[in-house]
Amino acid sequence: MAQSFDVVVIGGGPGGYVSAIRCAQLGLSVACIEERVHKGKPALGGTCLNVGCIPSKALLDSSWKYHEAKTSFAAHGISVKDVGIDVPAMITRKDEVVKQLTGGIASLFTANKVTWLKGHGKLLAGKQVEFTAADGGATEVIEAQHVILAAGSAPVKIPVAVVDNETIVDSTGALEFSAVPKRLGVIGAGVIGLELGSVWARLGAEVVVLEAVEAFLPMVDQQIAKDAAKILAKQGLDIRLGCRVTGTEVKKGKVTVTYSGKDGEKSESFDKLIVAVGRAPVTQNLMSNDCGVTLDERRFIAVNNWCQTVVPGVYAIGDLVRGPALAHKAMEEGVMVAERIHGEQAQVNYDAIPGVIYTHPEIAWVGLTEEQAKARGEPYKTGVVPFAANGRALASAESHGMVKFVADEKTDRMLGMHVIGPQASELVHQGLIALEFGATMEDLQLMCFGHPTLSETVHEAALATDYRAIHIAQRKRAK
Ligand code: FAD
Ligand code: AMP
Repeated sequence: MAQSFDVVVIGGGPGGYVSAIRCAQLGLSVACIEERVHKGKPALGGTCLNVGCIPSKALLDSSWKYHEAKTSFAAHGISVKDVGIDVPAMITRKDEVVKQLTGGIASLFTANKVTWLKGHGKLLAGKQVEFTAADGGATEVIEAQHVILAAGSAPVKIPVAVVDNETIVDSTGALEFSAVPKRLGVIGAGVIGLELGSVWARLGAEVVVLEAVEAFLPMVDQQIAKDAAKILAKQGLDIRLGCRVTGTEVKKGKVTVTYSGKDGEKSESFDKLIVAVGRAPVTQNLMSNDCGVTLDERRFIAVNNWCQTVVPGVYAIGDLVRGPALAHKAMEEGVMVAERIHGEQAQVNYDAIPGVIYTHPEIAWVGLTEEQAKARGEPYKTGVVPFAANGRALASAESHGMVKFVADEKTDRMLGMHVIGPQASELVHQGLIALEFGATMEDLQLMCFGHPTLSETVHEAALATDYRAIHIAQRKRAK
């Protein structure tokens, strides 16, 4: 007899594994089909845990420690001789972190009685799922009351720079270099390109980032993006905007990249090239032609606000669907869908999803940018305070950057918070909580923040929206 579950989830990344666990918590019988094999072993956790968020942050942290030891310990009076970098050891540490976390998901599945089916899943008509076991077992058809598609995304391939996994790599290959390349090219100045470029630049590579469009970080508040461009350039990242890569040639372990920009056609030679031009949803071989699920105009699976596809009982979440390609967005959609299947009225607030770029300093934001607030046509106000006016930031020699609030002029409600600076990824959650609770700037102004903390700059930026900041000179008189 065919196996049957209340819910079958296809994909065990942050969207899929979280939805499977939440379904199990709610008393539903659930199977999660995941086909990934990482370093020779079946692995849960998807892109994020295996080749995305976690390994990239592990390498960002290791490379930052090396960079600091080399460049800034001396200012603290600490002398370290012969600072060296053992790249294979750094990669091994990263692999250990990944192993610990992906193993943790497998244990959570066991604890929650989620059945992990190791192999490939394909949605058929009538909410049936074809399962092909990775160990070569027979293909079987599984019955499901509900199906959650969570197959995620894969790096976009471009014909002008074909990944050979030697000289030209994608984001996955860039997490596995065995030595620091002398000259490194990166195609794409998006989040992934900047983060991976930063890792290898800190370790000593000469890094050139080629970006087709003229705007730098168009999704980020442009005051913050301008500051980021300056700081990253000072760190040695050579970011060339308006430069579209038109061809590559690999010869004797080096790659020559041709690109066209405002000065015409140019070329550069690199030891390694990272292609980081975005990610595309994995819809191939995920669904039969007659399953009924449709794609939208950008080839994502078409869903409504509750991640329902056009087929009743079939949902799609995470990188497979519209919205930012972020692990926490995938997870929240996973929880929402599980709870909706259970009959609850859950939803995701798509207006309050934080974004983070883990460069140094970090860049983080939530809510509307100043450009978006302006486009609304309603009066707005901003408050901007630099970390240079923060005692804690100065004490720890981390005083680059700023906190910026964007608020509604009439209602005083917070609309957005933007941070470039130390611990931005953590500080931004103060803005997230304020946004979700509909806080006004006055609410934040009236709170007593601890001293000396980086958070004081959040407080000061809230005060600055009404010209009340104490530690910077503001032009207008206080109200
Ligand atoms: P995925 O994580 O892609 O998981 C989908 C899984 O489904 C995969 O494991 C795949 O093997 C499996 N699968 C696909 N098809 C099938 C099938 N037919 N049968 C069985 N299994 C299948 N996001 C952040 O929020 N913060 C970050 O710091 C961050 N850093 C990143 C760094 C890098 C280098 C990269 C590449 C991405 C990063 N992301 C980050 C993005 C994040 O990884 C994704 O948004 C997130 O993983 C999406 O989750 P998902 O569950 O939708 O899909
Ligand atoms: P993201 O989608 O945020 O990861 O960013 C990918 C970036 O790659 C985008 O900013 C694109 O403009 C850029 N890009 C895509 N194709 C090319 C190309 N051929 N040359 C240079 N940049 C590119």
